[in-house]
Amino acid sequence: MNFDLTPEQEQVQKMVRDFVAKEITPNAGQWDKEEKFPTDVWKKMGDLGIIGTSIPEEYDGSGMDFITHAIVAEELGYGCSSMRGTYSVQISLCTKTILAFGTEEQKQKYVPKMAMGELIGCYGLTEADSGSDAASMKCTAEDKGDHYVLNGGKMWITNGGIADVALVFAKTDKEAGARGITAFLVDKGTPGYSTCDIHDKLGLKASNTSELILDNCEVPKENVLGPVGKGFKVALSALDNARFTVSAGCVGSAQSACDTAKAYAKERIQFGKPIAQHQLVQQLISNMVLDIECGRLLVYRAGHMKNKKVPNTRETSLAKYFCTEMVNRVAYNAIQVLGGYGFSGEYPLERIYRDARVNTLYEGTSQIQQLILGNIELGMPAFT
Ligand SMILES: Cc1cc2nc3c(=O)[nH]c(=O)nc-3n(C[C@H](O)[C@H](O)[C@H](O)COP(=O)(O)OP(=O)(O)OC[C@H]3O[C@@H](n4cnc5c(N)ncnc54)[C@H](O)[C@@H]3O)c2cc1C
Repeated sequence: MNFDLTPEQEQVQKMVRDFVAKEITPNAGQWDKEEKFPTDVWKKMGDLGIIGTSIPEEYDGSGMDFITHAIVAEELGYGCSSMRGTYSVQISLCTKTILAFGTEEQKQKYVPKMAMGELIGCYGLTEADSGSDAASMKCTAEDKGDHYVLNGGKMWITNGGIADVALVFAKTDKEAGARGITAFLVDKGTPGYSTCDIHDKLGLKASNTSELILDNCEVPKENVLGPVGKGFKVALSALDNARFTVSAGCVGSAQSACDTAKAYAKERIQFGKPIAQHQLVQQLISNMVLDIECGRLLVYRAGHMKNKKVPNTRETSLAKYFCTEMVNRVAYNAIQVLGGYGFSGEYPLERIYRDARVNTLYEGTSQIQQLILGNIELGMPAFT
């Protein structure tokens, strides 16, 4: 077992860390206030090759292994969870899914431009009435010969309002449950396809979240992704990738909260000495460090298994469950270290705390991760 990063991984870590420190961390608070997605910084990320991280070089990606991919997500999460969220959806839910299930024509059309950040993707699975039970979706796709007609709506879709292409799931057979779902690539501008931005979120304010509206939307048959009726498999495979990326992002956000708390604890004087010298503050810090180290190890182990191309649903789910809960605990404890100042906009912790909350909700809630893990451990599903 080797816990060292390779020289190449260290090089990428340094490059992304420097980029995040210069371009992202100083601006994240302002983007949050303005609810603004920074397209200029996104473009720079594309130029640096840190959008198409684990996409093969033949499709204009950076050809990174999964540990390096996690390092990038971690560093982005350190600076801004909204940027990390946009990146996660782009690479893990969309680009890698097109790469895995697309025809060569689809891959050539979308993957290189998505790897460079020139096209933005979104992933539309959730609906107003179907979240955890995604297979109960109501969105339909009717076969009309050379095209399908899609009707319905998708809810809470990250990047929805800024996406050039939406990966949308709809029922081609209403009676067949999960086996009646098909995946479609819907290009922006397709008649009958529109979006409506969602505001007033608790966090991730610089990340676009939208509703997708499909109103007699005609999608050509060449835009079906994967086999007809196998869309649920496509959706679950995408989620497996995304759970890994979100876990790494949570490690980065937690590290940022912990670093802020450590720096503050050394400066703040109470009872005649830095609060860092009060034992209960050291307890808060050491609990944070333990949490972060455990999370990072779980992420890297899942990445190691992904590199080996061996089944890793269990390890990825463990990382997702632990890291998304962990970042909430760490952000809470970091605010505790700063006392009242942790509650103010003067420090990034209040944003990190708000941004952390969604992680236990999307890409399978913590309860869904428990059920996935329970089924693997016990061999008895608690849900179908
Ligand atoms: C900011 C944001 C961005 C998002 N981005 C996307 C996106 O890009 N694409 C996309 O498709 N979706 C996206 N989502 C949606 C997200 O994936 C869903 O919110 C999530 O899957 C949970 O579904 P739900 O909100 O309908 O909650 P529900 O499924 O209604 O769950 C409510 C509660 O019931 C619990 N519960 C449900 N079923 C069970 C069960 N069987 N056993 C025990 N407990 C259960 C849940 O754990 C939860 O606590 C996003 C959501 C948010 C908030």
